[in-house]
Amino acid sequence: MKNPSIKCDVTSCKHNMDSEHYCTLDCIQVGTHEKNPSVPECTDCLSFTKKSCCG
Ligand code: SF4
Repeated sequence: MKNPSIKCDVTSCKHNMDSEHYCTLDCIQVGTHEKNPSVPECTDCLSFTKKSCCG
C-alpha cells in the first residue's frame, strides 16, 4: 500500500510502488554522503533496497 506522504521515482527499489511512484514504507531514513550537503543530489534514501530479479 502506498504512503501518500512519500513520493518516490526510484523504481528499482523494492519498496517503490512503480505504477504510482510512491514509497510503500511507513517511514524512511534519509541521509547524506557529503560533509556539507548543499543540493538535493547530496542526499540519499538510506531505506533503499534493491529489487531482486525474481520477486
Ligand atoms: S525506500 Fe526510499 S528509495 Fe525506496 S521507494 Fe521508499 S523512498 Fe524510494
